[in-house]
Amino acid sequence: MQAESMDIVIAGGGMVGASLAAALSGLHLNIALIEASPAELTQLSGYDDRAIALSYGSSQILKGVGVWKDVAEAANPIDSIHVSDRGHFGATRLNAQQQKVPALGYLIQAQTYGQVVNRYLEGSNVRVIQPAKIDAVETSDATQNVSVMSESGIETIQTKLLVACDGGNSAIRKMSGISATTHDYEQVAIIANVSTEVPHENRAFERFTEQGPIALLPMSDNRCSLVWTLETNNYQSVLNLDDDAFLTALGEAFGFRLGRFTRVGRRSSFPLALTQSSKLISDRLAIIGNAAHTLHPVAGQGLNLALRDIADLAEQIAHAAKHQEDVGSSELLNAYARVRQKDTARTIQYTDSLVKLFSNQNFLIGHARAAGLTIVDRLTPFRTLLARQSMGLASQSSRLARGLPLLKETP
Ligand SMILES: Cc1cc2nc3c(=O)[nH]c(=O)nc-3n(C[C@H](O)[C@H](O)[C@H](O)COP(=O)(O)OP(=O)(O)OC[C@H]3O[C@@H](n4cnc5c(N)ncnc54)[C@H](O)[C@@H]3O)c2cc1C
Repeated sequence: MQAESMDIVIAGGGMVGASLAAALSGLHLNIALIEASPAELTQLSGYDDRAIALSYGSSQILKGVGVWKDVAEAANPIDSIHVSDRGHFGATRLNAQQQKVPALGYLIQAQTYGQVVNRYLEGSNVRVIQPAKIDAVETSDATQNVSVMSESGIETIQTKLLVACDGGNSAIRKMSGISATTHDYEQVAIIANVSTEVPHENRAFERFTEQGPIALLPMSDNRCSLVWTLETNNYQSVLNLDDDAFLTALGEAFGFRLGRFTRVGRRSSFPLALTQSSKLISDRLAIIGNAAHTLHPVAGQGLNLALRDIADLAEQIAHAAKHQEDVGSSELLNAYARVRQKDTARTIQYTDSLVKLFSNQNFLIGHARAAGLTIVDRLTPFRTLLARQSMGLASQSSRLARGLPLLKETP
């Protein structure tokens, strides 16, 4: 049987793969998106109960992609962020007005995000092959040969560019012989939706405790999305508490800025590690999203960083497509990797340092942290720097990152 030819194959249709497919869908290219799970979104990994804080920068990218209107309708704005350290004075506050943006970020359920992006893909030229699993890849000079296993058998697709978006445990990365390092934080995130006595008024809270950070992010119907990080050897006892005892324990750890916690929904847990691929590119291969870097959720940077990967990769691909050049050439991939280097390193370091700094129980470090939060709160340049990283504005040169469509409209 003759192999089918595609310009681009995207491996994995989680939040990152689906978003990349949406970003590229306007280009005159043959694109296939291959996803292992069946189409029912709730069964897709990544489309679980978690809520995602999209940065202001991500809202701009999604605007350029053309899905922002629908995402925004389902999202809750974050007007301010309050960062504090349990047991120490000192706090810092960021707000949208100071930063001269409509909102610092937006909170959306991962499932809803998936539904919006997949609906957009339905009307596009992207061929979605699902459920289907890539079980082998073979690289030649001119193509990647991708073996796809689905209910109808095994087919081979030849593609100029393969983009691995197949998650933290990326099979494509392993099949391509690319190594990855993993640092286990020995922490687990418990996530749930909670209600509080005092309305959140679109405020987000990040509170660092001896056990790990607690994030409360504002959702619709005055609910908050909770991400409660606990040490691995301690989380199970908290996860297993009945609702009343869980709400009391949460109140003790978080404090009473939002009054008492009154209700908690279904809880899930995620073990936390930092996984980094040793390379972001190889021959006719780009690796993005969790497959390239799986981060601690403390600063809500994972999908936001991946959307910036998408914006820069899409820019390079659009340029090559416009000039009828090879979309998988080593020149294109090297240029992409160069552009991504700084932002990737900075975001990983920012997230990792936050986890390490705020997990440290040393008395002096605790005081230094408190002083640091106070200083950041008082000094506008520091606060602006922190806000720019949180808002995903640290790197902003591509058209999508500026909220513009990938292709210039011809008058
Ligand atoms: C508790 C928690 C809170 C978070 N909060 C935030 C936040 O507020 N803001 C933020 O920006 N980020 C946040 N993140 C990070 C964010 O969830 C991830 O960055 C994002 O989900 C990564 O998506 P992905 O598509 O790369 O990977 P995945 O979601 O793992 O998707 C990979 C997909 O590839 C498919 N696949 C795997 N192997 C194959 C194969 N061989 N063939 C075909 N398909 C395959 C899988 O079925 C899956 O659908 C959070 C993470 C956690 C754990």
